[in-house]
Amino acid sequence: DWPTRDLLAHRVDATPQRTALVDVATDESWSYREFDDRVDAVASTLEATGLGRGDRLGVLMDTRPAFAVVCFAALRLGVTVVPLNVRETEPELVSKADRTTLTALVCERDTEAVALDVADAADASCYSVDDPDADRTQPVSIAPKREQSVDPVDVTRDTEAVIMFTSGTSGEPKGVRLTIGNLVASATASAFRLGVDPDDRWLCCLPMYHMGGLAPVLRSTLYGTTVVVQRAFDAESTARVIDARAVTGVSLVPTMVTRLLEAGWQPPESLRSVLLGGAPASSELLERCRERSVPVYPTYGMTETASQIATATPEETQQYPGTVGQPLAFTDVSVVDDDGSPVESGERGELVVSGPTVTPGYLESDHTTAAFTDRGLRTGDIGHRDQDGYLWISNRRSDRIVTGGENVDPGEVIEALCTHSRVEAAAVVGLPDEEWGERVAAVVVFDSSPNTGDSNAGATNGASETADDGLAVASLLAHCDGRLAGFKQPKTVAVTDALPRTASGTVDRDAVRALLSERGV
Ligand code: ATP
Ligand code: MG
Repeated sequence: DWPTRDLLAHRVDATPQRTALVDVATDESWSYREFDDRVDAVASTLEATGLGRGDRLGVLMDTRPAFAVVCFAALRLGVTVVPLNVRETEPELVSKADRTTLTALVCERDTEAVALDVADAADASCYSVDDPDADRTQPVSIAPKREQSVDPVDVTRDTEAVIMFTSGTSGEPKGVRLTIGNLVASATASAFRLGVDPDDRWLCCLPMYHMGGLAPVLRSTLYGTTVVVQRAFDAESTARVIDARAVTGVSLVPTMVTRLLEAGWQPPESLRSVLLGGAPASSELLERCRERSVPVYPTYGMTETASQIATATPEETQQYPGTVGQPLAFTDVSVVDDDGSPVESGERGELVVSGPTVTPGYLESDHTTAAFTDRGLRTGDIGHRDQDGYLWISNRRSDRIVTGGENVDPGEVIEALCTHSRVEAAAVVGLPDEEWGERVAAVVVFDSSPNTGDSNAGATNGASETADDGLAVASLLAHCDGRLAGFKQPKTVAVTDALPRTASGTVDRDAVRALLSERGV
């Protein structure tokens, strides 16, 4: 039976005076003792309402220290935390509240109106950490009380701690059940890879209702380091916070780093780690980071593993640009073919992950049955492992193109296209085809090579193709001929100035399809 008490209770005994949380918005800063006192206050209020082991508590709040207080208060009572996305609509939230059978919901001033309606619909009680609407929500004060009053419940590795929803890229978000053991394993393995210094100050500006925002808080609490909390990323103010608060580490998605660099950001000496996750980091971005000495740690992870699966260090990133590194300690990744048998190193296949960070299952058992095999959890991601053990992510399995009964991985086609000297970036999708079911289609970005002068300069995104582009496409198709089997070669190619991307920096495949159909190709 391990551990017998919650993580924070252990931490407070060890380093009560160290700074746990800094709130950029209010300039407040709490020691571990103060953090713990606030957790105790919330836990005792919730306990008095009858909340206890086995209950599930929704949290509908933006990224702020009080979010962490509510989470640790729930853990202290053996209550499962269900972080909810503040940007979702009321019907989406009601559906999640129903699926998780919430007993209660905690909100803040800005989310109170929606939270009340969701709680009503889901037959849950509703509490606010800010001055509540006196008639309808009940207060749950995060102000510390004079005496400690709650006895942390005993937990084991298998105690359900959090139900975290996936991003919903491939359908409706799935509810992932994560145990205390999953969270602790993830935090320690990540600390082992990144290194932890007692004086670390990690900036959290990603939403705490996703793993990317919550994981640094858990890791930091486990190690007694400091989390600097900023409500939301903003290139200018985040750059300022990193300087002013002597931040040593930060988790960002690739688009955020792009914005920082575009704003002329130069990382200060104090910054040791920029964890880059959620979407692939392009080779252009990695190159620009190298030029500005940004200490990037590209990472590959998913909600189902309580955050990272593999992470590369800055040194590895320089040596193997584009890799996501090796799996974290005790995490196993196999690369398998369609029958589930392991493939040779260098060959592409679906990544299957196992180890102490992997969820015991989803909320809905049909998802669990579909995802788990003898080797572990099917990630739905296609990638390969090289001779030296480094992992490379290509694309999602669901992006795969089936043409004339043959499978084509877009990643393999993109790789071949990018070996052409003029191709800067490429995206590959399947287009409906009467004869073959689907056909391989590509959108490419050419550099403006000396031969063609600056014919691309000043062109807007989606500009029509020039005669030069026509020649380059012909040379590109000839280039593919020797490198890809016939069915993998693009049958349709469009040229553009920049690939369409989503907010998180991934190539927007729907927009790529739209661009191809706009061109009538
Ligand atoms: P859903 O499971 O609902 O479709 P989702 O998979 O996008 O949504 P998350 O758990 O937030 O939800 O995201 C994990 C996924 O993000 C991974 O499975 C992978 O597809 C993608 N991803 C994460 N890191 C990287 C990376 N470094 N390179 C490429 N893809 C990545
Ligand atoms: Mg997923």
